[in-house]
Amino acid sequence: MPKVPFDPTWCPGCGNYAIWASLKKGLVDAGNPAEKTVIFYDVGCSGNMTNFNTYYGFHTLHGRALPTAVGTKLANHGLTVVVVIGDGGCYGEGGTHLINLMRGNHDITVIVHNNHRYSLTTGQTSPTTEKGDKTKSTPEGAIEEPINPIAIALSNHGTFVAREFAPDINRLSSRITQAIKHPGFSLIDTLQPCPVFNPHQSLEWYRERLIKLEDEGHSPDNLNDAWKQAMRIDKLPIGLFYEEVKPAYHEQVTELKDGPLVAKSIETIDLSILLEEFK
Ligand code: SF4
Repeated sequence: MPKVPFDPTWCPGCGNYAIWASLKKGLVDAGNPAEKTVIFYDVGCSGNMTNFNTYYGFHTLHGRALPTAVGTKLANHGLTVVVVIGDGGCYGEGGTHLINLMRGNHDITVIVHNNHRYSLTTGQTSPTTEKGDKTKSTPEGAIEEPINPIAIALSNHGTFVAREFAPDINRLSSRITQAIKHPGFSLIDTLQPCPVFNPHQSLEWYRERLIKLEDEGHSPDNLNDAWKQAMRIDKLPIGLFYEEVKPAYHEQVTELKDGPLVAKSIETIDLSILLEEFK
């Protein structure tokens, strides 16, 4: 992949650097041609990545990277479609979109930069902020409980549900490759240190809590055990919680079975009935 002529503007120590490196390696290792790959970026520090990659990209409105990606996949399901989005955009503004992507098993890989804050806007609470955390918007400590993204994905038909830790680049890049190859929806909730607005959840904080699902004897085809691992509060498991292969959305649409919509000649599409309704 050619290099862009300028460097990222993220803060020193930001986990976005590691996710950026992992995404590039993961895409290359997946082997899909760059000209057939498109990345959708949401608003947030993670969205600045749109300027640092040479893949086709679309910087969308907040929370709307998800439905924009769906529209593109339906128009041309021959593309590899990836979403880069923060925890605020994915689980907050885009929360219902996320559930609908999972319900439809749209063949899209969603990589969430989960730093438990809205950091681009200087550190307000997000849906994943820990209860009690003092932030710019909660000077006395967050009152709400955090959501559990893995439990939400498991309960809403996610067919590839994973959590990884941003600084483990080899591990994260392999998971991204695996997610891209998964024939359906995939979510990688990526724990991302933000030393500026969430210094409490530091590298050391994570290292004390992280465990690997494969070391726990977990098998990703075991939904019951995935639930148990997702609900743990003693440790923070990373790895592939659950994977199931079933038809993707575009594979179930009659009009798309003989090829992508963009490849069809406009002359073969009968718009007369639709146009008649507008008369
Ligand atoms: Fe990274 Fe946090 Fe700085 Fe944003 S504010 S660039 S998430 S360290």
